[in-house]
Amino acid sequence: MKHISILGSTGSIGTQTLDVVRSNGDIQVEAIAAGTNIDLLERQIREFHPRLCGVWDETRAKELAVRVADTDTKIAAGMDGLLAVAAEGSSELLVTAIVGMIGIRPTIAAMEAGKDIALANKETLVTAGHLIMPLAKERHVRILPVDSEHSAIFQCLNGESGNKIEKILLTASGGPFRGKTKKELEHVTVEDALKHPNWSMGKKITIDSATMVNKGLEVLEAKWLFDVELDEIQVVVQPKSIIHSMVQFTDGAVMAQLGTPDMKLPIQYALYYPERRPMAGDRLDFWSMKEIVFEAPDMENFRGLSLAFQAGRAGGSVPTVLNAANEWAVAKFLNRELSFLEITDMIERAMGHHKKIEHPSLKQILETEAETYDWLESCRRN
Ligand code: NDP
Repeated sequence: MKHISILGSTGSIGTQTLDVVRSNGDIQVEAIAAGTNIDLLERQIREFHPRLCGVWDETRAKELAVRVADTDTKIAAGMDGLLAVAAEGSSELLVTAIVGMIGIRPTIAAMEAGKDIALANKETLVTAGHLIMPLAKERHVRILPVDSEHSAIFQCLNGESGNKIEKILLTASGGPFRGKTKKELEHVTVEDALKHPNWSMGKKITIDSATMVNKGLEVLEAKWLFDVELDEIQVVVQPKSIIHSMVQFTDGAVMAQLGTPDMKLPIQYALYYPERRPMAGDRLDFWSMKEIVFEAPDMENFRGLSLAFQAGRAGGSVPTVLNAANEWAVAKFLNRELSFLEITDMIERAMGHHKKIEHPSLKQILETEAETYDWLESCRRN
């Protein structure tokens, strides 16, 4: 029996993690947490019987505690609740399926308590990779990637320890607006941006895919996870998401992982690594597929990717500004307070305004996040 906890159990990755748990039948879910969705949390408590459930929103936490008073699940609220879920004593692995850099503190708490991390929450590595990766080494915990591209790279590296990577070929679908010009992007709507061609995901990452900021965050995630330089990462557009990513070695050999676009595969691989469990579902049919098309990314019309490379090269606190400005701008776009192109404009302005901190501590990362939000708000008022 495996014992896990899930931060963000009500979201796209969280619910698919529970699908994997349900279909395997040998994982005990010890703790779960979410932001506000107590209806789904209640159903998850009644089905999976976790010892602990964290709810960010304090009022909803109280309401949920009343609703599940007949169960053995304890309810904890706010950041203390997330930290308790992350460090829950009986669990051996934490799935970080929470969205945004709010995941940093719970991820660190889990690692300090010796838990392996199945990492979906890329914002944590983008902003605090310089703290997370050394901590993993120090505490002997594994960081198992859930992001499909990073899981693909991880799978390509199986059995290759000691062999140097020449290049990581990070594939990208190009999102719903691939091929559009800046002029055409001026008036795209929230509904247009939420239509991802291949993947069904939470709203924030779907918008990030449309701006290509997501691919930029993934580049920075790959740099930390696989200890490579930014120049050793090349983004390759492959619109149908058949190849999930590739690794080129110094002898020129390229290893790739292919599959249908289904996040349950990388989730299950992270939960059972190094074992491959059987999984039902569609398989690739190479006779009907006929061809796989590749393109270079359009860095001019989709500034998200070039801004991420810029932030990564600057290093220090700049990736935090990129990430925080993006979280702020995406929330405003979803709320119809900013246009699509203003998302990357605001990220660029925030990065231009920021005075870099070379090796930010956790406190400085969180302060940089708050300062970025404040500065962007003041820009909008003036
Ligand atoms: P969703 O928006 O679908 O889910 C987010 C989850 O986080 C929900 O459970 C939500 O709870 C919870 N949450 C949000 N804010 C808080 C908070 N303050 N405290 C506690 N819980 C909170 O996101 P996704 O599942 O799409 O993405 C999650 C992470 O995984 C992101 O970092 C994303 O980049 C990454 N990822 C996602 C992929 C996907 O296919 N979806 C693929 C690869 C990576 P509630 O429901 O109550 O709001």
